[in-house]
Amino acid sequence: MMRAEGAQVQPLPDRTFASGCSATSSVKLVAIGIPVTNLGAVKCTLAAPFARWVRQDVPQLATRWLGGYVTKIESFGSFACRPINNQAGNGLSEHARANAIDIAAFQLDDGRRITVQDGWNGADPQVRGFLRALHKAACARFSVVLGPEANALHHDHFHFDMGSGPYCR
Ligand SMILES: [Zn+2]
Repeated sequence: MMRAEGAQVQPLPDRTFASGCSATSSVKLVAIGIPVTNLGAVKCTLAAPFARWVRQDVPQLATRWLGGYVTKIESFGSFACRPINNQAGNGLSEHARANAIDIAAFQLDDGRRITVQDGWNGADPQVRGFLRALHKAACARFSVVLGPEANALHHDHFHFDMGSGPYCR
């Protein structure tokens, strides 16, 4: 499926940890159209919709809202062995199963760097529209999408996961 979309992925060996964290049926995204920084293991069932969002939604919405091309996407990572919202006592985050990706910023060919943190409620209506359109498009692809409107912890990134949903905020 991934190959048919022109994405290059590398299968990773299954890993499980005593803490309950795991990265199974996971891949490394080698080339999915636009470079994405800082990504580790991503579960296959998340990699497929993520590749579609990167290859289809991001370029289309960058053209429509910004008249430009996204040359790099900055992520805060995928796999992380930690509880939900990093708070002790919470259940394991989908990140602890390589089932979530956090996206923070977009670099454009004209030199602009658009961040969720500064752009979501920033002065530029085109940037606000771009980020909201990306968020909305993501809600059609992932089980759970969290952004700045979800809670303060997501003021600076979009969280995508394929856990139990749908939830789009
Ligand atoms: Zn996250």
